[in-house]
Amino acid sequence: MVGYAPKFSTLPPMRRQIENILSGELDSYVQILKNLVKIPSVSFEGFEQDSVKKCADAVFELFKKNNFNEVRFLGEQTGYPAIFAELKGNSNLPSVLLYAHYDVQPPMRDNLWVSPAFEPQVRGGRLYGRGASDDKAGIIVHLAAALIAKKTLGKNCPTLKFLIEGEEESGSPNLGALLKECKNLKSSAAIVCDSSNWDETTPAIVSSLRGMLALEIEVKSMEKPLHSGIWSGPVPDAAQGLAHILASFAKIKFPKTHSLKVYPSYGCKELKKECALLDETQILVKEKDILKSLWHIPAITVTAMEAGNRKNAGNVLQNSAWARVSIRVPPGMDLKKVLNIIKKHIKAACPWGLKLSIKTENGMSEPWETKTEHEFFKKMLAAMEKGYGKKALITGCGASIPMVAALSKAFKDMPILLTGVEDPKTNAHGENESVSLAVLKKAILSEILFFASLGEE
Ligand SMILES: [Zn+2]
Repeated sequence: MVGYAPKFSTLPPMRRQIENILSGELDSYVQILKNLVKIPSVSFEGFEQDSVKKCADAVFELFKKNNFNEVRFLGEQTGYPAIFAELKGNSNLPSVLLYAHYDVQPPMRDNLWVSPAFEPQVRGGRLYGRGASDDKAGIIVHLAAALIAKKTLGKNCPTLKFLIEGEEESGSPNLGALLKECKNLKSSAAIVCDSSNWDETTPAIVSSLRGMLALEIEVKSMEKPLHSGIWSGPVPDAAQGLAHILASFAKIKFPKTHSLKVYPSYGCKELKKECALLDETQILVKEKDILKSLWHIPAITVTAMEAGNRKNAGNVLQNSAWARVSIRVPPGMDLKKVLNIIKKHIKAACPWGLKLSIKTENGMSEPWETKTEHEFFKKMLAAMEKGYGKKALITGCGASIPMVAALSKAFKDMPILLTGVEDPKTNAHGENESVSLAVLKKAILSEILFFASLGEE
């Protein structure tokens, strides 16, 4: 046939080799992920400690088995251990610290899981199970990327250091100390694979996180509950008093914050769908401000309330009422200042001489943001664009990851690239957590291409 030419791949040979190896080995990495998901490594108090330790051992063995240059536990004395491992590469290239965590959230309500939380199952191209994405997938992305990079990049493979933590879900209480203990962690850049892409096809680097603090508020009017028929009227209702305080939160004025220059496009339609809002439920901000409000504005949520209880809801005038509120604090705002503003507001809003108590929970989480001009961000955005076949975005995130703030505090000049395999379907922390296997593969490929780009001008 005239003009016929066989189609050759336009990929450079190294890239083709990487993709071939990755395609051939992906199943075995998915199997390792499944094995990790089977271990119920919930780091919360009251859950089986042995399982968390068993998972730490399993991760340790993974590195040992794959002949990493140095593998050891960190912080064994203070809590659940972290695993440090190093794969030595070209010392003339920038080194990279790879972070993930092996502990997971509790499974929540067992009856809502389609397949049991700790029995991994693949359905419709997604692997389901607790930790399948958050964050055992992070371990797999780093491990696969490092081992395939070592094989394919040869002398151009940078030194890769691993930090796999075991207490992230319980707020990384010992991470600060552990980072001080291990001087060898300091690297030219860090990749924290514990976050979310924009959606199933669009990769993203997260550049900011909100911090968090939580309060318990209790109001009390008298020593004991009363018969509501006999006494209501002149005697204040503690439940309504608390409701009065909570309803006034919308009036709190916070200092101004800065925002991203450009927000990705996101509207009411997307928000309604992703949050499964009921048809009539209103959205509280203008459409153009949705992302700004999620990422860069403080928000107060009432996470639990108690005044009497539903089961024994008789005709009782309650003497006390309690609520727990959590407050998300955007980058650029001081946690303590925000706490003071809110406490002052609650005191002023408390009606009828009710006795008020405010308790601040331990474990505040600092907000975090990073500049994105550093060349490593450009290289990662380019690597993701190649790996996913779609332009990568820089986004924010309204959630809190205390570990990221701890990491940037310990290593001030080290750029942190916050990546991840989650997407809007992942449901991390909820039931039926899952990871897209296609995304897992693209995330591994992107990370290898990032390593490769460190040797390029
Ligand atoms: Zn996580």
